[in-house]
Amino acid sequence: MDKKRELSVSALENGTVIDHIPQGHVLQVMNILSLENFDDQIYFGANLDSKKYGKKGLIKVSNRFFESNEINKIALVAPTATLIEIRDFEVVKKSGVTIPDEVKDIAKCINPKCITNNEYVPTSFTVIDKEYLKLKCHYCEKITKKENVTFV
Ligand SMILES: [Zn+2]
Repeated sequence: MDKKRELSVSALENGTVIDHIPQGHVLQVMNILSLENFDDQIYFGANLDSKKYGKKGLIKVSNRFFESNEINKIALVAPTATLIEIRDFEVVKKSGVTIPDEVKDIAKCINPKCITNNEYVPTSFTVIDKEYLKLKCHYCEKITKKENVTFV
């Protein structure tokens, strides 16, 4: 880790840094995690230089650690993201995100006639393509693609 990077990470006393968010997806990540309603400090940056990806986005959230359901959501919109957990200014955990095989109660089905859009039935999908993100609905078998994904 270079000095500059260490500094920007250690500015957080406790919380999570979501690093390596693909360019243009910072606000989407904020949205799916409902961070606009969060009371503590949040910093975010876009168009930051990244050795690995050219440009990237980053979000730092104070006093917040994410659950696996939330991490799955992050993976769907920012599959290259790295999560860095900070406690007492120290990095205690660093992990990538992985798109799960099954996606439950996170994304909406594209089919307006699907039972999940008409009754109180939580959505459930099988991820049939992780690279381009294609979700096959467990109920109606319609495919929801990345560009059409909206979140519950
Ligand atoms: Zn469906």
